[in-house]
Amino acid sequence: LLQVTGLEKSFGDNHVLRGIDLTVASGQVVCLIGPSGSGKTTVLRCLNGLETPDAGVVSVGEWRHDFETAPTKTQRAALRDASAMVFQHHNLFPHLTVLENVIEGPVHAKRMPRAEAIAEAERLLARVGLAEKRDAYPHELSGGQQQRVGIVRALALAPDLLLFDEPTSALDPELVGEVLQVLKELADEGWTMVIVTHELQFARQVADQVVFFDGGVVVERGAPEDLFRAPAEERTRRFLDRIL
Ligand code: ATP
Repeated sequence: LLQVTGLEKSFGDNHVLRGIDLTVASGQVVCLIGPSGSGKTTVLRCLNGLETPDAGVVSVGEWRHDFETAPTKTQRAALRDASAMVFQHHNLFPHLTVLENVIEGPVHAKRMPRAEAIAEAERLLARVGLAEKRDAYPHELSGGQQQRVGIVRALALAPDLLLFDEPTSALDPELVGEVLQVLKELADEGWTMVIVTHELQFARQVADQVVFFDGGVVVERGAPEDLFRAPAEERTRRFLDRIL
């Protein structure tokens, strides 16, 4: 479903991505791990059209582009539509209710009829145990509930690919579990997901593939049981020793 080859990105003199390759099959869950500043978020932002890579080829489903030439506005919009991103901070609109937050994308960006968007939003909110919060405002929810609404907002766009940027790192420890539980259920349902996470236990449980990043390159990738138990690279071993 997703194929990335030779992805490069610099911010000024800071060469953040130095040729990243990534392949994610339909229905797979891939966790990106690595030290702070290694470029994990930048990869997700490139995949979602929030950053434009300097070089590399990205294909998501039918969409494909070689960034040797700049994408047109239409191409960028199509890339953005192929995936939906859940951020570290949920980024909900504070002046809109939960329901209004969820239907905003489908109604405005996807031009879905309002009644249809509401029915789908209600179904998805019930799915994450938040049916009764549909008319609440974000500030009336806990951090974990807010993040679950953030996830529902991404699901409502019915993307091919879900991207998560450290979805639990802004949460109090006792709220992390409920959000990880939702991610596990989505994985079981067969969603294709790329998740940047520091939750290695979680990665071990849900990932089909774990990719270890450092210094803008993929140092090592593999099935979680292999990569965590017997990392091949010294850099991976040092990182895991620090975290586990
Ligand atoms: P973390 O785990 O801390 O989120 P990360 O691996 O996701 O780290 P990135 O956020 O991708 O790392 O950042 C990689 C590097 O790119 C950092 O040095 C950061 O300062 C730089 N960077 C990211 N976005 C920008 C930007 N918009 N402008 C300039 N520099 C940026």
